[in-house]
Amino acid sequence: MNSQHTLPLSPSDLFEKQLKTSISWRKSAAEERILRLKKLRDWIKNHQKDIQSALWIDFSKPAPEVDLSEVFPVTSEINHAIKNLKSWMKPKKVATPLPMIGTTGFIKAEPKGRSLIISPWNFPFNLTVGPLVSALAAGCTAIIKPSEYSPNTSKLIVRMIREIFEEEEVAVFLGETSVATELLALPFDHIFFTGSPAVGKIVMKAAAEHLSSVTLELGGKSPAIIDQSANLEDAVQKIMWGKFVNCGQTCIAPDYILIQEDLKEEFVMRAKVQLQTYYDPKFKGIELSPDYARIINQKHFERLRNYLDDALEKGGKIEFGGNYNASTNYLEPTLVSGIREDMILFQEEIFGPILPIITFRELSEAILLINSKPKPLALYFFGTNSKPMDQVIRETSSGNLVINDCVLHFLHNELPFGGVNNSGIGKAHGHEGFLAFSNEKGILKQRVGYNNVTLLRPPYGIKAKQII
Ligand code: NAD
Repeated sequence: MNSQHTLPLSPSDLFEKQLKTSISWRKSAAEERILRLKKLRDWIKNHQKDIQSALWIDFSKPAPEVDLSEVFPVTSEINHAIKNLKSWMKPKKVATPLPMIGTTGFIKAEPKGRSLIISPWNFPFNLTVGPLVSALAAGCTAIIKPSEYSPNTSKLIVRMIREIFEEEEVAVFLGETSVATELLALPFDHIFFTGSPAVGKIVMKAAAEHLSSVTLELGGKSPAIIDQSANLEDAVQKIMWGKFVNCGQTCIAPDYILIQEDLKEEFVMRAKVQLQTYYDPKFKGIELSPDYARIINQKHFERLRNYLDDALEKGGKIEFGGNYNASTNYLEPTLVSGIREDMILFQEEIFGPILPIITFRELSEAILLINSKPKPLALYFFGTNSKPMDQVIRETSSGNLVINDCVLHFLHNELPFGGVNNSGIGKAHGHEGFLAFSNEKGILKQRVGYNNVTLLRPPYGIKAKQII
């Protein structure tokens, strides 16, 4: 798809146009913001079928998965913001330290102003509209640049935004990297980017030019540890869903399994049965399953085929799956063992339906491996014994940590969602999302005629010594 501006105005003209609105929205009451959120929610509810069909055309995403992973997280985010907005916006009084006696301190969350949202293709509706909910709750205007790889969903987003907002409030530009680059040259007050760590670095460099603040929701390899104490039936049920939902194209999908070596055989056996139960209960082949999506495009399909070929050349063993259909970008859920450090599967984020299985003898080996790689976006621990559980909590660092489940934390509005360093900077969802688009302004109120700082004024003499 060629770069294409969806609006007659250029990004810089539109950015200028949003200035007036962003200043007037600074004083917007909770009721006004809630009204905007309700309009968004109503549109989504009234166009659920359109959202389903756009995602079906983009990558054969099954309608129930669209409802569960694209629509529900957004409407839930809206409902949560509507319920809590007044309390989030209320200035918070802080305690008064001794030298400040007589003063009052408040924190007021004010909208940062004009925001830019750049989103990926893998959950193209959810990961575009979710951050918009936080921007609107915080009182920011927004310019959105969705992914060029999911063109039907991106076009639907254009239609939605045009039907709800004036372009000086929220606007969308479609296109490839060149459009994002043009937008990133503008001095936005906040940039919310979801995508790969490589592009995250480009975004952060561009933001540094104007000292725009950033939220970077990135990716990487999220491991799932299966401890000796795990309930394998439960772990397999959860992992086989979390890994293969959206055809494995999920930033927080378990990227690889780290399993206690005695459990590996049973894990593989159970995983095969579970995949059959989920996607092929009548033994007609997973390709015919109405519940299994496709790889987004040929480029990513070839990338994943290459990962598999590389693993097989280096001695990897396919435990399940491996079949594909290049004409439809179908790649079967695939389990691979015999993983070596020089395999691409071991090194790169997989972002597709291939699950490497790596064994360990002692939990400390698994922790050592995780700590030798960039900090994951999510880390999953399956086990019932509190000692190894605590060890993982204490000895690893990751954006989120989930115990005895996976992927589910995305839906928890009260938990900060995001990465750490290579997997992301800043947090999203709920109050954290609201704060990402807000400046927490510290306000100090002094009483006229009351002077509690005479000690700090000249002539200093020995006064300064008295307050330390
Ligand atoms: P991507 O980084 O290639 O693209 C994301 C967006 O950036 C797209 O809109 C794209 O047009 C734009 N872009 C691409 N190159 C650019 C450049 N040079 N300059 C400016 N903008 C550019 O990512 P993707 O392939 O769309 O998504 C996959 C990645 O996103 C994975 O790494 C995945 O883990 C990550 N991800 C993270 C989250 C999260 O919440 N942390 C969610 C989904 C995906």
